[in-house]
Amino acid sequence: ERDTRFFTDWLRAAAEAVAAEEDRLTELDSAIGDADHGSNMRRGFTAVVAALDADPPGSPREVLLLAGRTLVATVGGASGPLFGILLRAAGQALGEAERVTDQELRTALSAGVAAVGRLGGAAAGDKTMLDALLPATAALPDYAAADRAARDGAAGTVPLRAHKGRASYLGERSVGHEDPGAASAALLVGALTRVSR
Ligand code: ADP
Ligand code: MG
Ligand code: MG
Repeated sequence: ERDTRFFTDWLRAAAEAVAAEEDRLTELDSAIGDADHGSNMRRGFTAVVAALDADPPGSPREVLLLAGRTLVATVGGASGPLFGILLRAAGQALGEAERVTDQELRTALSAGVAAVGRLGGAAAGDKTMLDALLPATAALPDYAAADRAARDGAAGTVPLRAHKGRASYLGERSVGHEDPGAASAALLVGALTRVSR
């Protein structure tokens, strides 16, 4: 079972990973976007950690709702509302319990991923964060498999042509680069896998 501390630790680990990989995320976005994805994500997750510290939530649901709200409020761009709704919809799916099973966590994250799809109108293969998130949630509750699936999903965006977001403006020229949002989604899944052990 996973408690409030687990969810807080996940987001702290995610914030560390995003900060450590900020330059790589921005490089990816400079190839097929506007070179702000690393700073967007670093700013957002720094604010998430500050919000968790300032007003520690009492349940997994409240952790995810606070983190999602904070991302929406601080990230801007396409990825802020999308990662925001990922966490908010997952939180809403959890209910008020103080502990959740891995199966409940999987169901909640799947609800979050579905909400990302509805908000952004993207599907698998459109070269977005969904190409990491969809296979990762499908592999849960096997956390190590989810980590591999997210990394493979992000790497698998390289040959794809972007159909959503800024990168889609490039058409064929978006081919040959990893999608930055898929790369950061894989960082979030990797952080989840590390804290699950
Ligand atoms: P912006 O493109 O506004 O500068 P970011 O650079 O922070 O925002 O984020 C770009 C990432 O957002 C993309 O790499 C992609 O993964 C994701 N993204 C953009 N549009 C969509 C969408 N409609 N659905 C899902 N993900 C999307
Ligand atoms: Mg960008
Ligand atoms: Mg931007």
